[in-house]
Amino acid sequence: MLVLGIESSCDETGIALYDTEQGLLAHALHSQVEMHADYGGVVPELASRDHIRRVLPLTQHVLTQAGRTLQDIEGIAYTQGPGLSGALLVGTSVAASLSFALGVPALGVHHLEGHLLAPLLEQNPPAFPFVALLVSGGHSQLMRVSAIGDYELLGDTLDDAAGEAFDKTAKLLGLGYPGGPAVAKIAAKGVPGRFKLPRPLLHSGDLNFSFSGLKTAVLTLVNEQLRSARAQLDHANMNSGQDGIVEPMALDEQTKADIAYEFQEAVTELLSQKCMDALRKTGLSRLIVSGGVGANTRLRERLNQVTSKRGCSVNYPRLEFCTDNGAMIAFAGAMRLKALKAEASHLSGTFTVRPRWDLAELQTP
Ligand code: ATP
Ligand code: MG
Ligand code: FE
Repeated sequence: MLVLGIESSCDETGIALYDTEQGLLAHALHSQVEMHADYGGVVPELASRDHIRRVLPLTQHVLTQAGRTLQDIEGIAYTQGPGLSGALLVGTSVAASLSFALGVPALGVHHLEGHLLAPLLEQNPPAFPFVALLVSGGHSQLMRVSAIGDYELLGDTLDDAAGEAFDKTAKLLGLGYPGGPAVAKIAAKGVPGRFKLPRPLLHSGDLNFSFSGLKTAVLTLVNEQLRSARAQLDHANMNSGQDGIVEPMALDEQTKADIAYEFQEAVTELLSQKCMDALRKTGLSRLIVSGGVGANTRLRERLNQVTSKRGCSVNYPRLEFCTDNGAMIAFAGAMRLKALKAEASHLSGTFTVRPRWDLAELQTP
C-alpha cells in the first residue's frame, strides 16, 4: 500500500511516500526556521500561509522523486494534532481534498506517535515491547511501547521539555534559534569541570524529569559571570584613569562554551540515567529514542555506552527524522491504514483538527 504522509503541525512542511512493501520511497521537507527567526519564535499565521505555499509543490516533488503519480497513492496520512490549528488545517484540508478526489482513505495521525515510531523506519528495527524516550521541543516522556497504539506513560517532565531547556539556554547565551544544535556546537569547545549545574530529580526514584530549575541555574550562572566580568572591566578602567561607564557586554566565547558544556552534561546525564531506570523497572532490554533532542551527539554517546554495558540495545532515527518530518507521519499512518484495511474512512465531508490531543487516547488499530 502506497501512503502519502503530510506533516504541517508547526513550522515544517514535510511530505513523504511510504510503501508498506518497499519502505520509504521519497521524502522532502521545507523548514520555516529562517522565516520565524526574526520574531524569536513561531508566528502561527505566517506558518499557516507558508504551509499553503509549500504543500503541493513538495507533494509533486516526492512523487517525481519516487517515479509515481497521484493516481498511484492508495492512502493518505496527515498530522491531525497536536499543533497549531491553522497549520494543522492546511495539511488536513489537502489530505481531505486528495482523499475525495482520488477515492482513497485518509487517516489523521498523532504527531507524537509519528515521532515515537520514527526509529522503526531504519534498518533492523527493534521488536515490541520496548522503552521509548521521546525528547522534543514540547515533550520529554518515557513510555512502555507494547504495540502500535499501546503506549503506557512511565514518566514525564513536571515543567519544561528537554528541547525547550536547550532553546532557553541558547537564548540566555545569546545563541540562535533553534537552540539545541547551537548549544551542542559550542559545547564541543567547552572545558569540563569549570562550572557545576544541578541534576534535578536524578535520584528521585521515579521516572519524571524537571528542567526548569536547570534553566534558572543557567540564568544565575550567566548573571554571575556577567557581574564578575563587569567588575574586572571597572577595575581596569579605574586603574587606567577612565570613567566607569560600561558598554553593554556579553560573555566571552570560552565562558559560553563552558556553560553550554555543563548544561549539556546535566541534561544528557538526567536523560540517560532515567532511561536505564525505565529499562530496569520494566524488565525490558530495548530502548528507542526520538524527537529533536534525540539528534544530540553527546546524548547518543552516553546512551550507547550505558546500554551496551547492561546488554541492552538502543535505536535512533537518522538525524533528519529526529525533528519534524513527513516520513514519520507516512510511516505511522501506513502501519495503521494497513491494520485497518477497509475500515479506514474516506475523508470527504467535514474534517477536524486536534490542536490538543493526549497520546494516551490512542488505541491499537
Ligand atoms: P513537539 O514535537 O513536542 O511538538 P517540536 O516538533 O518542536 O515539538 P522537534 O522538532 O522534535 O520538536 O525538536 C525540536 C527541538 O529539538 C528543539 O527544542 C531543538 O532545540 C531540539 N534539538 C534539535 N537538535 C538538537 C541537538 N542536536 N541537541 C539538542 N537539542 C536539539
Ligand atoms: Mg520545528
Ligand atoms: Fe515535533
